[in-house]
Amino acid sequence: MIRIEHLSKIYQTKTQVDALKDISLHVQPGDIYGIIGMSGAGKSTLLRCISFLEQPTSGSIFLDGTDMSSVSPRQLQEIRKEMGVIFQGYNLLMQKTIRKNIAFPLELNKTPKADIDKRVDELLRIVGLSDKADFYPAQLSGGQRQRVAIARALATNPKVLLCDEPTSALDPLTTRSILELLRDINRNLGVTIIVITHELGVVRSLCQKVAVIDQGSIVEQGLTAQVMDAPQNDITKLLISTAGGR
Ligand code: ADP
Repeated sequence: MIRIEHLSKIYQTKTQVDALKDISLHVQPGDIYGIIGMSGAGKSTLLRCISFLEQPTSGSIFLDGTDMSSVSPRQLQEIRKEMGVIFQGYNLLMQKTIRKNIAFPLELNKTPKADIDKRVDELLRIVGLSDKADFYPAQLSGGQRQRVAIARALATNPKVLLCDEPTSALDPLTTRSILELLRDINRNLGVTIIVITHELGVVRSLCQKVAVIDQGSIVEQGLTAQVMDAPQNDITKLLISTAGGR
């Protein structure tokens, strides 16, 4: 589904920042793949590269076998629809109702109005917010706003959902319900999910596979259960010990 090969990203500021170094990763259809690391490890940069918001300095990303560096800007626009992204802080349009927020990507797509209404109703049902359609984001809790962001990201029926720290601003109970929703979306809609997080609990309860990233490099990857049971790298051990034991 997504194959990353030898991906590097260098930011040229006053000094050179090697944000990603020789990253290789293979996400298969149906995976829920966690990418975990400390702050500054390179997680968000990796997510921006995977979602084509940022150009890698070198290396390749293949989506369903297509080398993304070889496609035209027009093709890239089409392929982007295969990917839904939920960002930290939700990025909702505060002046628009929940219905309008979810409809937004469909309007951009020039989807007929009747189809938009039907799809938005369906999405509201999936995320459990049918009764909030005419509310504004400011009238919702953090967890509900995240549900709106998830519905909006799913609007165009993407194959992949990329989630940047989806629960970092939420309390434990709300976190649990959002993780449950993501699990249902993966299981019932067959959407492949990539989750960027610094929270080990998220990886443990949601992701079958995990990659641990430190200072721009993947230091460990594999099945979550195996990595958690027998961590090889000091950063993984640190993440486990600071999360309250294994
Ligand atoms: P994380 O998401 O794991 O906290 P980031 O991907 O945001 O890490 O950052 C990785 C490294 O790249 C950090 O050292 C950060 O300062 C640097 N970085 C990120 N974005 C930029 C940018 N636009 N310009 C320069 N340096 C950046």
